Amino acid sequence: MTESIRNADVLIIGGGLSGTMLAVQLLRQPGQRHILVIEPRAELGRGEAYSAVELGHTLNGNAARMSVDPDNADDLTQWLTDYIGAGGWPESDQQHVPISELFPPRGIFGVYAQQRLAEAKAQSASTVEHVRGEVVDLQVDEAATLLTLDNGQQLRGTYAVLATGMFPAARTPQTESSGLNAAAVDPWDVQAMTHIDPQSTVLIIGSGLTMVDAVVSLEQAGHRGPIEIFSRHGLLPHVRRQPPSWEDFLAADHSLRSPRQLLREVRRQCRIAQARGIDWQAPLDTVRAHIGRLWSQADEREKRQFVRHVRPWWESHHHRSPPLSAQLVARLQAEGRLRIQAASFKGVVASDGGVTVRLRRRGEQAVTQVSGAALINSSGIEYDWRRVARPLPQQLLKRGLIRPGPLALGIAADVSGAVVDAEGDVSLRLFAMGPPLRGMWWESTAVTDVALQAKALALKLTKI
Ligand SMILES: Cc1cc2nc3c(=O)[nH]c(=O)nc-3n(C[C@H](O)[C@H](O)[C@H](O)COP(=O)(O)OP(=O)(O)OC[C@H]3O[C@@H](n4cnc5c(N)ncnc54)[C@H](O)[C@@H]3O)c2cc1C
Repeated sequence: MTESIRNADVLIIGGGLSGTMLAVQLLRQPGQRHILVIEPRAELGRGEAYSAVELGHTLNGNAARMSVDPDNADDLTQWLTDYIGAGGWPESDQQHVPISELFPPRGIFGVYAQQRLAEAKAQSASTVEHVRGEVVDLQVDEAATLLTLDNGQQLRGTYAVLATGMFPAARTPQTESSGLNAAAVDPWDVQAMTHIDPQSTVLIIGSGLTMVDAVVSLEQAGHRGPIEIFSRHGLLPHVRRQPPSWEDFLAADHSLRSPRQLLREVRRQCRIAQARGIDWQAPLDTVRAHIGRLWSQADEREKRQFVRHVRPWWESHHHRSPPLSAQLVARLQAEGRLRIQAASFKGVVASDGGVTVRLRRRGEQAVTQVSGAALINSSGIEYDWRRVARPLPQQLLKRGLIRPGPLALGIAADVSGAVVDAEGDVSLRLFAMGPPLRGMWWESTAVTDVALQAKALALKLTKI
């Protein structure tokens, strides 16, 4: 017997931080609505980032920077004060800094998101329900959206929101499969790290914050052997410090700059700061508030220039490492146990005794082979939905309900997050938020991006 279709006002697809914060903001709006959040995980509010079980997997910003409430920058600090006061996170007292300067474990941040949801539910006339499952298809007509789940269940809603987060990169070159995912250990699989021979060589592809998490887990699991890291540019994330404030030099000048001009100006400001004995992170941090505007104003050529020339620099300077993790990486480097090399990844061969990767080191023509006992894939995210092998992105593309965003990063949408279809029409029913809007804003992933978008979208959905 077919189950009857369930109805809701808003269907939120994905119950990570984005979907959960949207639910919180919808609950805070006046009126009475029924909201369904469809999420295969057992808990809302976590997604990949905040499901972390390792205490050393922390936020990459301190509590003062990671509020989920756009109207209260101290929200996380206040919650954390109560949480620690009630006996939560006893290890925090080893850091000897004020609570606002602590870098909380991401698992604890997940509890914070969940508590904010529970409180919003308790105070609202609206309701939120978690439906477990993966959405595999979506249809839209003039009056409603219709979702189909992997178990065949169907849900109808006035609006649907794609809060599906990030999809891991499959690292499959056009011509042949590199086989990386098949052979590699998941960087966040803490258990898998304990099965690696502690004295063996571990290879890591990718040198961003995911690599940093993997190194923390290896250390925690008792690994004491060499760690060889390979990434295209061989750049490590800088450590996050607490720089003083700096004049918002971009606010004073709204004229559009090319990415190269922008980079030159940022570097100039950093040099001025350093000459005055001020941390270069101070001027750089002022750029963050403008990046969405600068990116959306740039034409395609400038966007490409940015991705090609500025991105590696931006990633390593802006997406900075939490201090304790950075200290560990620096110590292992100093001990000669951890090495980072610029190389492009060409393929992998798994064998019983371990794994061999094929690489071309920067400046070399020849492809070389490097072997280790295990390989960790921390090479990142697939933003091009045409390459994401999940049913929903494929169905949305097939039905013409979405089209790729600028540079095929995520999907196209208008400023409110209303999705643009294959014909170029802006949807009245289907919206997106968070990482799927990477191409629209460049930075559309961090806690603060997601928190701001959740509030704006909740206001939009309750006013139309
Ligand atoms: C390991 C890691 C660490 C991070 N650390 C930080 C940090 O320290 N600071 C910071 O600012 N940002 C950090 N980020 C960025 C982070 O992505 C955001 O903070 C936030 O998690 C984004 O939330 P999201 O809900 O959009 O995405 P996700 O957390 O990816 O959640 C999306 C959810 O959608 C679900 N989903 C996907 N497709 C479907 C479908 N078809 N049907 C139903 N459900 C579906 C998934 O199961 C998933 O739970 C980190 C990201 C990662 C991956």
